[in-house]
Amino acid sequence: MTDAPRFADIAEPTPDRAGLTESYAAIGAALDRGDRAAALDDWDRLRRRYETWAALVHLRFAQDTTDAAARADRDYADALSPEAADLETALKRRLLADPDHEGLAALTGPHALRLWQTDIATFDPAIKPQLEEESRLVARYTELLASAHLTIGSQTVNLAGLGPYAEHPDRAVRHEAERVRWDFFAAHSDELDSLYDQLVKLRHGMARTLGFADYTPLAYRRLRRVDYGPEDVVRYRQQIVRHVVPLVGRLLEARRADHGWDRLRYWDEALIDPAGNPGPVGDHDALVDAAQSMFDAMDPRLASFYRLMRQGGFMDLKNRPGKAGGGFCTSFPVAGVPFIFANFNGTHDDIGVFTHEMGHAFQNWESRRQPGVDYLWPTMEAAEIDSMALEFLSYPAIGHLVGEAAAGRFRRMHLIGALAFLPYGACVDHFQHDVYARPDATPAERHAMWVRLEKIYMPWTDYGDLAFLAKGGRWQAKPHIYGSPFYYIDYTLAQCCAMQFWVKSRRDYAAAMDAYAELCARGGSAPFQDLVQSAGLMSPFADGALAGVVREAASVLGLASDTFTGQTIFAPNPPRS
Ligand SMILES: [Zn+2]
Repeated sequence: MTDAPRFADIAEPTPDRAGLTESYAAIGAALDRGDRAAALDDWDRLRRRYETWAALVHLRFAQDTTDAAARADRDYADALSPEAADLETALKRRLLADPDHEGLAALTGPHALRLWQTDIATFDPAIKPQLEEESRLVARYTELLASAHLTIGSQTVNLAGLGPYAEHPDRAVRHEAERVRWDFFAAHSDELDSLYDQLVKLRHGMARTLGFADYTPLAYRRLRRVDYGPEDVVRYRQQIVRHVVPLVGRLLEARRADHGWDRLRYWDEALIDPAGNPGPVGDHDALVDAAQSMFDAMDPRLASFYRLMRQGGFMDLKNRPGKAGGGFCTSFPVAGVPFIFANFNGTHDDIGVFTHEMGHAFQNWESRRQPGVDYLWPTMEAAEIDSMALEFLSYPAIGHLVGEAAAGRFRRMHLIGALAFLPYGACVDHFQHDVYARPDATPAERHAMWVRLEKIYMPWTDYGDLAFLAKGGRWQAKPHIYGSPFYYIDYTLAQCCAMQFWVKSRRDYAAAMDAYAELCARGGSAPFQDLVQSAGLMSPFADGALAGVVREAASVLGLASDTFTGQTIFAPNPPRS
């Protein structure tokens, strides 16, 4: 019997350009000899080791951003990355140039060829300087947001630290949190506009260099979307407008009436539960224990995997000075066990670490025996099904994390949050399509584009005295818009699939959990819609997929579907008198 893997034992020597070039030359020599299978094996091993090293370097920096050595290692890794991409792309081109695609697919699986075809269209050595510039601009955006020192009450917090205030039961505290947040963005609006303007023009230029009409088709390929295009996404957004926007409008109107407010303001949207949004049962140590009880109650596969993560030290969840913000799951393809990084803040966000990030981790673990490194993670919209579905599959056992008394309120809050997210997610996506279709638009014109779209997707929005938001500034706080263009619709596509798992689990929990674990084990071995179909789900692009889950949610939330036809026009706040 082998010892359980430990995070502390994972180590990889630092690669360099000469060594990588030599390794790729050896792989090329194996291809020259006609030994394609050996070449592919060596390449896969090389990529696993490289990715393990890069993941460790980035994780160590995130764990302590004040560590100068960790910072230097990260800068070195960022500089080596385009060189590695260059070597990798050249090899993909060479493999695909061999007309025997059938023989190649027999070794790698057919999906790898589709992914590489997509990858080679997104890179050319000619765009290396622009790629470096893109990283620099995105890093500046991240740095700008991280520099926020905000005063609320007697406290100084960063942007993430505003979280508990922004959903505080006291309306005046919520308003103050949003005023403080958006005053910060207003104070930096010129730089935020300038950074985005540069990014849009830079990306448009790269697309033109690579032979695309504009950035949108390049962005879809960078996200390795091989089985749908912008037309499908347009139709999906229309489904959200038709089936979700009216329902969210009704939920918000009900909240306004319950509280007896004359109008529902922007700062009221985060207070989903009238008694205060339910939070976690305890601090870090209590939650780490409680999560074990939750997974024990849910499924033996999840339970044993969580035990392995915990015993091996594959989690870093405590907030501490110097640690990077946010939460993520990363992986070490040599070891097979992924790692979860988070910053607990005492709100329900902490619960999402165990229900969302653990979904990513479980998928990566279940798919560790996939043949090639390309299949260890699915494309993002499929990866988010694995994480978001676990949020719903945790419903019956969520009392372990929030306390039995609050379990029902937590589920209701989560379901409303899941629905309310869809219009916002679609708006973020639509905005980016409009922006990259008109790369020469001025910053003021981009703000006007956002205002126009908000009226379609979130017609209830009332910013009150928050002037920066009323002028169309809300999108500037969304890091994906700057750093991961076109990524956002992925969450909304995955939500439709995750909610189908929820519906299934209400009928037969064990069967839904089995289908979920099987989907996780397939990793990224197939395109998005094939993965969805293999799990017995409807593609979000199919007519009726979204309407079906929304109907079930409406009924669970006590909004009878006969009064909700999907045609209802949202009744906005009552007119001012
Ligand atoms: Zn995720």
